[in-house]
Amino acid sequence: MSEGAAKKEEKPRKFQAIRGTRDLLPPETTLWNHVEQTAHEVFATFGFGEIRVPIFERTDLFARAVGGETDIVSKEMYTFVDRSEKLEPDPTIGSMNVFFQKVRELYKSGEIPPEDQDEIALKLAEDQWKKVDNLLSGMSKSENAGTDIYTLVLLYDALRLGTRVSLRPEATASVCRVYIEHGMQQLPQPVKLYYMGPMFRRERPQKGRYRQFYQIGAEVLGGSDAPAIDAEVIEMVMMFFDRLELQGVQLDINSIGCRECRPKYVELLRAELLKVKDQLGPDSQRRIETNPLRVLDSKLESEQGIIAKLPRIADHLCEDCATHYSAVKHQLEMRGVIYRENWRLVRGLDYYMRTTFEITAQGLGSQNAVCGGGRYDGLVELLGGPPTKGIGFAIGEDRLILSLQESGKAPAQQGRDVYIAWMGERAHATAIRAAKDLRKAGFSVELPPVEQKFGKALGQADKLGAKYALILGDNEVSEGLWTLKTLADGSQAKYTEPDLLEHLRKQKALKL
Ligand code: AMP
Repeated sequence: MSEGAAKKEEKPRKFQAIRGTRDLLPPETTLWNHVEQTAHEVFATFGFGEIRVPIFERTDLFARAVGGETDIVSKEMYTFVDRSEKLEPDPTIGSMNVFFQKVRELYKSGEIPPEDQDEIALKLAEDQWKKVDNLLSGMSKSENAGTDIYTLVLLYDALRLGTRVSLRPEATASVCRVYIEHGMQQLPQPVKLYYMGPMFRRERPQKGRYRQFYQIGAEVLGGSDAPAIDAEVIEMVMMFFDRLELQGVQLDINSIGCRECRPKYVELLRAELLKVKDQLGPDSQRRIETNPLRVLDSKLESEQGIIAKLPRIADHLCEDCATHYSAVKHQLEMRGVIYRENWRLVRGLDYYMRTTFEITAQGLGSQNAVCGGGRYDGLVELLGGPPTKGIGFAIGEDRLILSLQESGKAPAQQGRDVYIAWMGERAHATAIRAAKDLRKAGFSVELPPVEQKFGKALGQADKLGAKYALILGDNEVSEGLWTLKTLADGSQAKYTEPDLLEHLRKQKALKL
């Protein structure tokens, strides 16, 4: 086949967004901007400052913070090895020895943070290398030289040559790292931070559940664990949702106790669950061992009757936790925040303690949680920092937007204010100047790049949803009087340049 024929046969590749990721397009992005702008405004009134943290961090940060047994860490993270810059590109057979030596040094110095199996993997690769080296130098013989070399390649590929990093599945761990790394315990406490941006989890995609999704979250770190802090954080989210006119908002709260009382409750729960094990589905049966609290999360119809009879954590809180919980409820009432107590609300992340909450909204089907949060007093310490109180939440921005759209909050396509219909070279120069002045004054302007017939220009202005067409032909330019056509009613009037700007400004102020 000739080269030309081969090229013809090759089908053009059709690229598509990766499963679970989405493109956000105008006009929807206008709504995203509105939501984010509102968050900036509302959170600032509560004294929160914005923080931007990296999209990827060391995997062990998430493993430590979120918990190795959680779904997020055990199966949903996007993880890869960030190869050490101290290692040359893949070595040749001749430089294998030196290469292994270097890897060993990097493991030892911590330059490549050591992990459990590193030593074994390195030893296996080195031994195999010796075997192959002997073969190649003729010192030994093998029936299966090919297999021996291939085994070396496989063992080499299995070596970890850098730090394991993950795309962030959530941001609380990063914010805590930042608090420690930047010595924020020296600042006036508590430190109040918020963030927004994409998170990544390899979940099964469905409506309201994506592999790249966006969260808007806030954290209060340090200072005290006064119940008023919990209540104020919740009040802030509710005020944010209120400003956005989110519909069907329902706040559920619970207390899941502390390191003192929760383990005792979990044991009690485990014992009760074991008694009814046969009546539970396979997921819940497994969770009896791994994480009995998660059984309470079950949505399985057949399990609901059984779960309703299980012991409730509110009845097993230690005195401090019980006092804290009732004070949080009182504080919410003082702020006029309406809540529902939900003893089954446990949340899927390991770091929560005491106050937990979740907010649902309408129009989302089964994925109706738009916000989850809670207190995580031990987390900063767990990550190597000083003992620090903490509470925060994360809002699922995708779901928030979906719910707003379902209730009719979708913004209309943003039309242009002015479409400049120019004709002739002289008018083109004037049109460029007019466009610049109008844009400086804040109007959105469409300036066609090439001359158009008058009828076509007006048709185009209409399609773009322009409010006005500014007509600039030779006559307008020589007279210094510009024609402005209001597209809604077809009326037309002539203005001098300054009058035109003034007129448009007035119309805008009147929102016409
Ligand atoms: P979490 O970090 O799991 O507590 O989740 C907080 C909020 O983020 C949830 O209430 C959801 O609104 C949102 N969220 C979590 N996972 C996803 C996902 N895969 N897709 C879309 N939104 C999500």
